[in-house]
Amino acid sequence: MQNKILVANRGEIALRIIRACKELGISSVAIYSTADTDSLHVKFADEAICVGSEKSTNSYLSMNNIISAAIATGCNAIHPGYGFLSENEKFAEIVEKCNIKFIGPSSKVIEQCGNKARARKIAQECGVPVVKGSNGVVKSLDEAKVIAQEIGYPILIKAASGGGGKGISIVKNEEELTRTFEKTMLEAYANFGDRSVYLEKLIENPRHIEIQILADHYGNVIHLGERDCSIQRRNQKMIEETPSPFITEKLRERMGKDAVKIAKYLGYVSAGTVEFVVDKEGNYYFIEMNTRIQVEHPITEMVTGVDLVKEQIKIAYGQELSFKQEDITFTGHAIECRINAEDVEHNFAPSPGKINNLVFPGGFGVRLDSHLYSNYVVPPYYDSLLAKLIVHGQNRKEAIRKMRVALEQFVIDGIKTNIEFQYLIMHNPDFVRGSYDTSFIKRFLELVRSEA
Ligand code: ADP
Repeated sequence: MQNKILVANRGEIALRIIRACKELGISSVAIYSTADTDSLHVKFADEAICVGSEKSTNSYLSMNNIISAAIATGCNAIHPGYGFLSENEKFAEIVEKCNIKFIGPSSKVIEQCGNKARARKIAQECGVPVVKGSNGVVKSLDEAKVIAQEIGYPILIKAASGGGGKGISIVKNEEELTRTFEKTMLEAYANFGDRSVYLEKLIENPRHIEIQILADHYGNVIHLGERDCSIQRRNQKMIEETPSPFITEKLRERMGKDAVKIAKYLGYVSAGTVEFVVDKEGNYYFIEMNTRIQVEHPITEMVTGVDLVKEQIKIAYGQELSFKQEDITFTGHAIECRINAEDVEHNFAPSPGKINNLVFPGGFGVRLDSHLYSNYVVPPYYDSLLAKLIVHGQNRKEAIRKMRVALEQFVIDGIKTNIEFQYLIMHNPDFVRGSYDTSFIKRFLELVRSEA
């Protein structure tokens, strides 16, 4: 049987996967909603099949429609990309039961990592440090009060099934805890269909450092270094870079080893990311494991030369990793800016609509992963990511310079974007020095607004 992959996603990541399939000589089938009929992923795949109407719940989140599409088109694998159903263990389980390869870890592993309270326990069992917090899910406010006393304020209430920076509340004292606890549970239920929450001590202004891993079916597990994703707005990443200006060789090695330890313990197969927060002293703490390809994966590809999406596909089809830990080397410095359809001046409100003039940046060491084309209409139904602008330089200074030039030459007319905002960050002295943490954007916004 010839290999054929259903790409269960849209936008730039669908294109990224289709391109990898083409390079590997594997047929690809795009799925699309009625809002995406004119999308590039529909045009570039070998086949395309409509899976429902505009709303994601009727299309990109419809397990029945997607699995039927895979069967109808004779696919023997499904790549879920990121978001949508990529970390849904039920979806992975049905795919497995239909004898279709799910390009990702097993449904069992997804389930173990999907509940972040459980994932914490797994990290602890591996001897990997976690942030001080509750021992699993906290069921009542009374229980939360006792635990909060023990760990000390400020603390975070986190949705166990949360993701994408949502379902996290900070509380500074018992009064705030009382006010927020049940509200967070309700929000967790509304957003993730699961009301369970757990508590974690707030690490003041940490860095977000994550380790990329790859694991095959034969017990080979390697890491591909870190990504610094500390430039975030409301716990959502905006700029990522590797290597982290903050991480020493020693720390990289220790964190890498710990990430591999967790993956081995889980029996993990495919690409995955182990996320940590790191405090000012360089103490690191596990926060969660993401069982999919990450938005920011290209920066790791640029410095290691490893095509992570191709590796995911090869692993899913049973190939052994063709390299070992000692073969992984890091060359130069890579930065990614997420270009979103949003109105920075109006609290980053989504800005869908028609794109008129479009000019893509380019040149040596510049990579653009995007599904945009001129006259494309950005639909209002999905996330606001328009493009990922990635640069690779010999060192951090060169990468920043390249990013400045690329942002300057990037034109998207017709809708509002954050291109200029990213450009300003690339000139901020703290960013240029590499001296930042997860509070950077908040402070930067105050600075920009005070100067306006
Ligand atoms: P999600 O699954 O929604 O991405 P995470 O648990 O990965 O949620 O956390 C998202 C972000 O929130 C992190 O990148 C970090 O900036 C912040 N964060 C999470 N846990 C802590 C913590 N214990 N202390 C300080 N910041 C945290």
